[in-house]
Amino acid sequence: MRYAEPLFRPPSEADSFILQATLGCSWNACTYCAMYRSKHYRVRPLDEVLAEISEAATRFAGEVRHVFVADGDPLAMELDHWEPILRALAAAFPRLRRVSTYATARNLLEKPQDDLRRLRELGLSLLYIGPESGDDLILHRLAKGASAADHVEAARKARAAGMEQSLMFLLGAGGRERSEEHARASGRLATAMDPRFLSTLTLTVVPGTPIHRQENQGHFELPDTRELLIELRCFIEEAQPSSAIFRSNHASNYLPIGGRLPRDRQAILAAIDEALAGRTVLRPEWARGL
Ligand code: SF4
Repeated sequence: MRYAEPLFRPPSEADSFILQATLGCSWNACTYCAMYRSKHYRVRPLDEVLAEISEAATRFAGEVRHVFVADGDPLAMELDHWEPILRALAAAFPRLRRVSTYATARNLLEKPQDDLRRLRELGLSLLYIGPESGDDLILHRLAKGASAADHVEAARKARAAGMEQSLMFLLGAGGRERSEEHARASGRLATAMDPRFLSTLTLTVVPGTPIHRQENQGHFELPDTRELLIELRCFIEEAQPSSAIFRSNHASNYLPIGGRLPRDRQAILAAIDEALAGRTVLRPEWARGL
């Protein structure tokens, strides 16, 4: 495959066939995000994408079980693009079990419910959504383009269509100033969206992003490592999904832990407390990544 770099995927899609059906992100405005700043959003021509699926089928037809559709928010694509892509994937890979993609609350709110149901019927079964925070002031400052209530409605639409959600929240996104509000509101939003998968990442301030300029001007200060662990603790205390697999194994995190919520809440809190007490070796700065 020839990919237009940079290319991103969730950690859990490491063994998936990555299909770049769009380039960039249709929103491309979040103040902390540098992922697609070098790209102008566009939907790739359908014939190119279908040709890539055919090419992949000649090489890995019997192996592919998971497909991740890239780049930043392919759910923005119209149904007339999605439909032939999902049909081609199903025909190309007989062992296909899951097609997933990144999505934003805006994508979901803009899609008619019937389109979402159709996408699910055709195989799109998992959406990775990054609300990042449940606090409306922080969401506004991050320029996410959607409020906490929008995310709850987006989750309702995804669920009604039969799609699973994997949610990502961003430790540090509220800065030092709103650290606790961020953690607690994020936990409440995780409860309300009720995903199957839940994860935390840690904010890295990337040079050239708006949040980096805010930091340079003294308008934003990233919590320190201890404060980030306290945020994580508050988030886990607050989040009450009905049954979610929680992970903080992303390379940006200092403390990779996991478990099932609510079942393993006490064990996860105990692991965080061990780290706060200095009895756990945290991931060193040099080993962290975006
Ligand atoms: S929606 Fe996602 S990919 Fe797009 S700018 Fe925001 S964080 Fe980046």
